Parts: sequence; C-alpha cells; structure tokens
Amino acid sequence: MKTKIINNPDTAAGEVLKGNIVALPTETVYGLAADALNPEAVLKIYETKKRPDFNPLIVHVGDISDFEKYAVNIPAEVYAIAEKFSPGPVTYVLPKKDVIPDIVTAGIDTVALRIPSHPLFREVLRKCGCPIAAPSANMFGRISPTTAEDVLKELSGKIDFILDGGRCPIGIESTVVSFEEGNIFILRHGYVTKEDIEKITGRETGEITDAAGKISSPGMLKSHYAPVTPLYFTDNIEYFKNKAGNIGVVDLSLYRSLKEAALNLFADLRKADEKKYEYIVTKRVDNKDLGRAVNDRLAKASSGTVMIENGSVSFLNKK
Ligand code: AMP
Ligand code: MG
Repeated sequence: MKTKIINNPDTAAGEVLKGNIVALPTETVYGLAADALNPEAVLKIYETKKRPDFNPLIVHVGDISDFEKYAVNIPAEVYAIAEKFSPGPVTYVLPKKDVIPDIVTAGIDTVALRIPSHPLFREVLRKCGCPIAAPSANMFGRISPTTAEDVLKELSGKIDFILDGGRCPIGIESTVVSFEEGNIFILRHGYVTKEDIEKITGRETGEITDAAGKISSPGMLKSHYAPVTPLYFTDNIEYFKNKAGNIGVVDLSLYRSLKEAALNLFADLRKADEKKYEYIVTKRVDNKDLGRAVNDRLAKASSGTVMIENGSVSFLNKK
C-alpha cells in the first residue's frame, strides 16, 4: 500500500464512512481516525499502531450537545470548562453509554470525549456524522506527529491517506480530565493547565499521574512519546553543548515561552532522533502551567539521567 498525503477532507470522510482508518490533523497532534461506532474500524487503529488493547481511545465529537449521546451523569463543571476551552484541547472522561463499543474504551466503563477545534477535523466530523475515535498517529510509544510528513514517517505503507493540515498549531496533546464522585482529576497534563481548570471550577484539581495497578489513562504509562535514540536528562546541559561528538541536545528552556516549548517539543525530539546520535540530552522546563505537560512528555520519553563526574559520564537508567 502506498500512503498518500491528501488535501481533500471529502476523501478523508469517505474513508471513515467506509470503515477505513485515515490520519487527520488536529490542533494538538495528528490523529489516526476511525468511526467510533464501528468496532472493526476501531480495531484497525489498534492493529496499525500496535497499541496494546488495554489503552482506551479518545472519541471526538463536533459539539457539546453530542456528549449526552455517548455519556451519562455529566457534571455541570464539564459544561463550565467546555464553555471556555471546547472546542479545544481538553478531553473529558465520563461514564459511557452502551452505544460506545467496548473496544473504544478498552473495556472500561468510561469514555473520553473531546471537541477538536481544527477546521479540517471538524469538517470531517460534520461530513461523517459519527463520532471519531483517534489516538495520535504514531506507532505505539513513539513521538507524536505534528506534521503530515511526520505521520508519513511513522505510518508509511500502513495506511492509505493522510489529510494534510500543515503543522499542528498547539503541538502537545489535550489535557485529560476525569470527573469521579464529585472530584476532578487531571489524568494527563496537556495544553490546558491545572491552573486554567481551577480558575473555572474555583476548587482544587487533583492529579493522577501514576496509576496504582490499573491503567485508567494510557498517558500514565511510564514510557511513551519516546525517540528511538535514548534520551537522558542532565543537570549540566552546557557541558554537552560545548562537547563535540555524537550527542544530541534538546534544550526547550531556550524558547521564549512555555507555549513555544510545547509547540516545538515533539518536532525537536523527532529532528534529533533522525540524526542518529549515540544519545540525546535534555533538561526540564519550569514545572508550572504548561511546563508540567512538557516535563511529563520528556520524563516519559526519557531513558533516565546522565551524570558527569570528573569528566566521565555515567547513566542512571529509569526503572
Ligand atoms: P493518545 O494515544 O495519545 O491519543 O492518548 C490517548 C489518551 O486517551 C490517553 O492518554 C488517556 O489519557 C486518554 N483516555 C482515553 N480513554 C480514556 C478513559 N476511558 N479513561 C481515561 N483516560 C482515557
Ligand atoms: Mg499518543
């Protein structure tokens, strides 16, 4: 199969309606899309990405009024957050209705719903008239794609079409928020920050960033978003910048804002990965606001920490 980059959303919508999978641009990263109500189509997403079957998918819909079709017990806070941030990069985890096939939610009784703002994705949603399941359009565990060309590198020969929407304007995934028994938790940090959500709800938002035993959110896996080249944190990035040799440096703290750091995160990791360095070093950005999402991706992409003592280098690998 030869994968084609296309510009026509009608073709993409036609594929979804036929039960095929197609890569689509979103404002966050590129997604690998299928009709969420068609279990065979959704299965193709798991098979193509080699995604483990315990990892639920995000279901994309066009409008907040669609939430009631697929979820129950929707708290008022969902509507309050959506008022400000949807369409956009927030995903709401809610108790699911039976109409959502089990394969979409990996058998769990909640469904993750998002209203994307990207005009091309929205056009495909409108033309299809069905909810669209779409995880990031990369092989499982690898760096998320932020251009059509990135998707081609990940999935060439595995899918027929990639709808080209240019570079994703946000570049980092949505914030996944769950609402359970009156509590609000961030399951995955993303573009919309904990502070943003707390401003709206007026109360503290918890964080579940590491699942004890059960995976309620794939974003919680310890290794994800990873380059093939090992990535290590260092406290001494200047040492590596000044050192000639086959070591890559990704320093996101050089960007003028956390938004810019987030926008360039996956693109910079991908660029460094393609150089086939022996390893890549990086450092955390400020751990506040959007910096939390950036640091979370770096931590999951990394193999551990590299230390320098008396000019010699040693590695502490992540467990
Ligand atoms: P990706 O593979 O990059 O699209 O990531 C999918 C994201 O979907 C994960 O990181 C989860 O946070 C989220 N997700 C999907 N369904 C659920 C669910 N039912 N409960 C919790 N998180 C979910
Ligand atoms: Mg992903």
